[in-house]
Formats: sequence, structure tokens, C-alpha cells
Amino acid sequence: MKIIFFSTQPYDKQFFDQYNDSFGFELEYFETQLTSQTTSLVNNAIAVCVFVNDKADVNVIKQLAAKGVKIIALRCAGFNNVDLAAAKQYDIKVCRVPAYSPQAVAEHALAMILTLNRKTHKAYNRVREQNFSLNGLIGFDIHGKTIGVIGTGNIGKAFCKIMTGFDCKILAFDVIANKEAEAMGVEYVSLIEVLQQADIISLHCPLNEQTRHIINSQTIDMMKKGVMLINTSRGGLIDTSAVIKALKSCHIAYLGIDVYEQEEKLFFRDLSQDIIEDDTIQRLMSFPNVLVTAHQAFFTKEALTQIALITLRNIHELNNEGNLSTQAALLV
Ligand code: NAD
Repeated sequence: MKIIFFSTQPYDKQFFDQYNDSFGFELEYFETQLTSQTTSLVNNAIAVCVFVNDKADVNVIKQLAAKGVKIIALRCAGFNNVDLAAAKQYDIKVCRVPAYSPQAVAEHALAMILTLNRKTHKAYNRVREQNFSLNGLIGFDIHGKTIGVIGTGNIGKAFCKIMTGFDCKILAFDVIANKEAEAMGVEYVSLIEVLQQADIISLHCPLNEQTRHIINSQTIDMMKKGVMLINTSRGGLIDTSAVIKALKSCHIAYLGIDVYEQEEKLFFRDLSQDIIEDDTIQRLMSFPNVLVTAHQAFFTKEALTQIALITLRNIHELNNEGNLSTQAALLV
């Protein structure tokens, strides 16, 4: 029983090989992304295992079905890159890892907030250059500030819990209010109220038709001047050109992004010797108050362990029982 991996990094191989012992699958790894040009690499496999920037559109799914693939296993939580209707049409099951470590992502959102605010990245470099001046490093107390959270599922809730430790007021917008979040003191309000009142806004909703460019020039206009915006969810939630305009006018005073609309051409690679043709990311990186990390919010030992174990278990269960013990993991 063979599983073919796309977009493989050394750590994927390390963790999947380690936890495959009890499953006994044959694992074949490719560094390349899954596209309609790379499906030719798939042979005699029951499953393909994909990550955030592999595109399983209708063409890819049709080609995989013709090669006898029965399962697309996402080794991530988000699933905006898979055409679920097409998978259903071609009788391919799709599974994901819904909650491998919500804390990993929530803690990274906090790391971005603290870095942008207290400028520890700049202080580190300064001190190493024997520059012990504090000029330009002034921050603000997070204690008592209003935090706006858009999407309070697994990650949003973990983030709210962290921020309650700072004695912040937490305003949330979600299509469904979460009782556990309410019990922690999170107040559910409209999207407009979150935008108007929050000092720091953190995005934790999935990317779908309703949320694509939820941050755009109109919603930015509603935000407080000097707001901090954090996105650890998906790049497409933000209209990047609108955000760049707001950074130039100082309406947005801090931006932390772990995800980027065009990230599939950049992230997870060492391009240090290359000329980057994407002028938008270059512009973003030129701002002193923008912090970009390359989709690393999930990247903890605990998360990688859970991702490997749950992905292998998902494939094992789908193959043996045609269903999953964790329903949230089954998409089609
Ligand atoms: P989840 O499904 O547990 O929660 C998503 C929440 O968003 C739900 O409460 C849902 O009701 C809400 N939501 C849906 N549509 C909405 C809308 N239109 N407006 C407001 N809220 C809406 O998902 P999760 O595990 O918390 O993950 C959230 C997202 O984080 C994922 O979809 C994924 O894109 C992203 N993610 C990023 C990383 C990373 O490394 N950067 C890692 C894991 C997940």
C-alpha cells in the first residue's frame, strides 16, 4: 500500500518515517508540488499526501482518479486548495488533520505580536553591533488592550485563552459563537464592531468564498488608526495591495503575516541566491513595521508528531473501514 507525498521537506520524511512503523505503508516522497504536470509521478498508490500549497483542482483530481488514487490526505488543517466537489465526483476521499496543535499556531500569533510591539528582533541585532541605544524601540503595554479575533475555532479559541492572560478585552466575530470562548470572557460582536474597536486584530477563520479578502480597503477604513494586524491563517484573507496602501498611510501601524496570497511560489524554499520577481512581497518586506514568517506557525515538534500520526491513521481507517473515527477530519 503506497502513499505518495508531494511538497516534501526533510522534517516531513523524518516524522512520517518515524511513525509509519506501526502502519507499515510504503512511503514515496517528492519535493515537487502536486500540479497537473506532476501527477505523472503517481503510480500504484492508494493515497497522495499533500500540504498547503499543493493544488488539487478538478484536472489534478481527474488525473489522480485515472491512476487509481482513492484518498487525498491533507497533512494540514486548511483545505482551500482541494476541489472537494471534484473529489466527490471522482469518488476520491479527502481527509485532513483538523486540530494537530492549535496552540502551536496561536503561540506563533502571540510571538508575532510581541516581536512587532517590543521589537526584540531589532534589539537583538543592535546589541550584537554594540549599539545599546533604545531610540526607536518603544512599544506599548498589551495589558488592557482590545483584541479582535476573527474566527474562534480551535486556533482562535487557543489564541483567546492566551490573550486573557494579558488581561485584554477580547471581541470576536464568528459565524457561530463558541460557548467555551464565551465562558473565558470573549464577547461576540459584529465584524464591524471588531474592526472599529480592536487595537490588535488576529485572523483565525478559514479561507473560503465568504472570507476571501475579508481584509480589504473598506474593512481597513473601519479599523482604528495605528492598528496591528496579524494573519496566521491563509494569505487570501487579505487584499495585500489594500494593506500596503494602509501601511503607507500609517493607518495600519504593524503587520505580522505568516501566510501570503502568492506564497506557493516562495515559501518553504531557500531563494537566497535568486532574484525575487514578486514585487508585492518585496514591498511588504521593505516596511520596518512588517514581520513576515514563511508559514511556520504550525512548526513545532508536537504538531509534526500529531500531523504524522493522524494523517497515517486517517489513511489506514479510510482504506480499511471506509470511514474515520474523527468526523471533522473527513471532508469528502
Ligand atoms: P476551525 O475550523 O477549528 O475554526 C475556524 C473558525 O472560523 C470556526 O469557528 C468557523 O465558524 C469560523 N468561520 C468560518 N467562516 C467564517 C466567517 N465567514 N467569518 C468568521 N468566522 C468564520 O479551524 P482552525 O483549526 O482554528 O484553523 C483556522 C485556520 O488556520 C485554518 O483554516 C488554516 O487556514 C489556518 N492554519 C494555519 C496554520 C499555519 O501554520 N499558519 C496552521 C494551521 C491552520
